[in-house]
Amino acid sequence: MTKYPWGHERRFNAYSNYFRELYGARVQKLSIDAGFTCPNRDGSKGTGGCTYCNNDAFNPSYCVPEKSVTQQIEEGISFHRKRYRRSESYLAYFQAYSNTYAPLEKLKKLYEEALAGSGIIGIVIGTRPDCIDDEKLKYLRELSEKYYVAVEYGIESCYDRTLIRINRGHTFGEADEAVRATAAYGINTGAHFIFGLPGETREEMLAEADIISTLPLKTVKFHQLQIIKGTAMEKEYQNNPGDFQLFSWEEYLDFFVRFLERLNPEIVVERFTGEAPPRFLTGTLWGKKRTDQIVSLVEKRLEELDTWQGRLYEGKEFI
Ligand code: SF4
Repeated sequence: MTKYPWGHERRFNAYSNYFRELYGARVQKLSIDAGFTCPNRDGSKGTGGCTYCNNDAFNPSYCVPEKSVTQQIEEGISFHRKRYRRSESYLAYFQAYSNTYAPLEKLKKLYEEALAGSGIIGIVIGTRPDCIDDEKLKYLRELSEKYYVAVEYGIESCYDRTLIRINRGHTFGEADEAVRATAAYGINTGAHFIFGLPGETREEMLAEADIISTLPLKTVKFHQLQIIKGTAMEKEYQNNPGDFQLFSWEEYLDFFVRFLERLNPEIVVERFTGEAPPRFLTGTLWGKKRTDQIVSLVEKRLEELDTWQGRLYEGKEFI
């Protein structure tokens, strides 16, 4: 049987296998809302936020900033134990808003409270590329000598005209710099991208595979654009629906398989899609599809086409 460069038979470099390889067991992420805000909301960069943003749509119910980090971890563990396969190892995922956007002393307190939790083997910190500096990276490098530490940047698009249009408040150049600086400190570096943002063509989205492939990223997450009710983007969509090319599920499956073929095989892929609860959504809906079903459907399509992540990386036939 073929073994791909990532050392197993799945046709993409899967996040769950990456952790199994690192720790010999399943690792579960626990979301935490530690009460951060974001410079694109509090006025230091902007006040309106990114046009698509409504964090409530992505936060699990046990995860609210009124509860301490410890309490959120304990409740997260009991939530996952009831619903999913048992796991003994957990990552505390600082998810809501910009989780490096505070003085270092405050960050240390919060991260170290999380790392003291029972079964916690590391932290994953979601943030913006303009909320990091050398002092914070030096501290995270020290932490990473004892724990799994990852910083995950919201980049969303490789095109500045899109970043301006969605009011991100940073450029792709700033994202590129933050990713390279973080990786240079030896910290696991992740990134998040959205497909279907207004004004981008499918070819431009596909070409992002080549740009992303050049970044020193350990992990990536991808989401299809979902229009969340109550956001500035919902108004834009109502006023100019023709500017949006929202993916149907079938279109996304075709697109994503082509994207994966061009993506650097060394990059671990954590997510293919996003899944805000339907009550928050407007626009093109996919119906009920669980994440594990989506993963199986993508793997099935990769198999049908006898292709895999990175097969066309750098325009070459690979393997
Ligand atoms: S940076 Fe994140 S939290 Fe801040 S407005 Fe944008 S999506 Fe929302």
